[in-house]
Amino acid sequence: MITLDGKALAAKIKNDLACKAKDLPRRPGLAVILVGDDPASRTYVNGKRRDCEACGFYSEEYTMPAGVSQEELLALIDQLNGREDIDGILVQLPLPGGLDATALLDAIRPDKDVDCFHPVNVGRLYTGQKGGFVPCTPGGVMALLHEYGVHPAGKTCVVLGRSNIVGKPMAMLLLAENGTVTICHSRTPDLAQKCAAADILVSAVGKVGLVTGEMVKEGAVVVDVAMNRDAQGKLCGDVDVASVAPRAGYLTPVPGGVGPMTRAMLMVNTYRSSLRRLGLEEE
Ligand code: NAP
Repeated sequence: MITLDGKALAAKIKNDLACKAKDLPRRPGLAVILVGDDPASRTYVNGKRRDCEACGFYSEEYTMPAGVSQEELLALIDQLNGREDIDGILVQLPLPGGLDATALLDAIRPDKDVDCFHPVNVGRLYTGQKGGFVPCTPGGVMALLHEYGVHPAGKTCVVLGRSNIVGKPMAMLLLAENGTVTICHSRTPDLAQKCAAADILVSAVGKVGLVTGEMVKEGAVVVDVAMNRDAQGKLCGDVDVASVAPRAGYLTPVPGGVGPMTRAMLMVNTYRSSLRRLGLEEE
């Protein structure tokens, strides 16, 4: 079984971006808006700031109290939309109750929507139009698969989970590369049987031990997107590693698999956005 090492690839991507960003007329800039004091969100935002530092990007953080109004947030987004030095705007989710997350995400200019949550960019992703962004988590999974020479074309792909953030865009990216894709969810009958047919199995559910050895085809590529805590409080995914590792051909670890790739792809999107804003050629 080969470990799909997201930590190593993410470090390589960020290093590469740091080298390329040095040659730009100005640093790529990312603005992150954090509302309230959710500790997990704080950790994610700190990680994004450190990633920007590592890549030599400019970053700004707006920490707003949980009681901030929708109007204040919209005014902030409007101001960031107009800034020449800001290439990416990100609202850290989840937001405290009372705020309309959809309206806030929709207010971000599509060409600064580096998370790829705006309907314009989602539409581009689904129709295959250029000019948008690849959403960070599924984009990170694709980059990791490519790094290890795994290509979905002609493969049976099964995605567990149908969220807008992970499951659906993951399925679209696999489909765009000519995989034959099945999306499973909480109402899917015969889940184990469907999973066992997969050459590439991506699990994005959030349930400890959901994917067991008998659900995995011999030699399959298994990608574990989930971030859960086990009974001992240790970080883990959906995959029961003890029974899956002996059967899988490739497996992502948790931590050190998809998580670091998600962070790296945010930097890639911010860099790409800056190239577009600077009128430079994208690779
Ligand atoms: P979500 O919005 O809660 O979606 C979970 C999906 O799993 C839903 O579509 C749900 O089906 C499905 N599901 C629930 N129970 C199931 C079951 N027994 N069998 C099959 N499908 C089932 O979660 P999310 O935001 O997509 O995140 C999924 C996981 O990925 C979480 O653990 C999250 O922490 C993690 N995550 C990791 C990263 C990263 O960077 N590594 C990024 C984002 C998310 P229904 O639609 O029918 O309810």
